[in-house]
Amino acid sequence: MALREIRIQGDPVLEKKCRPVKEITPRIRELIDDMFETMYEANGVGLAGPQVGVLKRICVVDIGDEHPYVLINPEIIETDGEQTGDEGCLSLPGKAALVTRPNHVKIRAFDENLEEYTAEGEGLLARAFCHEIDHLDGHMYTEIAEGPIHDIEYAEPEDEDAETEEDETE
Ligand SMILES: [Zn+2]
Repeated sequence: MALREIRIQGDPVLEKKCRPVKEITPRIRELIDDMFETMYEANGVGLAGPQVGVLKRICVVDIGDEHPYVLINPEIIETDGEQTGDEGCLSLPGKAALVTRPNHVKIRAFDENLEEYTAEGEGLLARAFCHEIDHLDGHMYTEIAEGPIHDIEYAEPEDEDAETEEDETE
């Protein structure tokens, strides 16, 4: 396994439509392993092929519930409800913006053995499925953001650490 370079918004590869996967080759297995490793290293909950420069319909998703998903040629087949919340992307590090997504989605996809499955997600998982599948058609969340793209605010304890370090320097 190896880390892959995450492409940043502005890279044209992020604006292209991806091709379906027809067979699982050793290279594709390696790509999937690398995508998980790269996503975990970056503390992300999802990563799509174009984000590592590969124009294939492959995403990985893991929202931290110990159920990693490999999505090959995924499609959203049902949606329900609505959620509006901050969304970020590893291709736009340190930033987030308000995005409305369905609160519940059902997807159909193929796994790493090209076996078809369906999965349902609510909340963050639904958001991650929608976000990653959008990448496969060249779309970023910033196109549908409802407010300004803003810096991610860090949690209180990290701010306190930062202040402590500043005090020590003085
Ligand atoms: Zn993204």
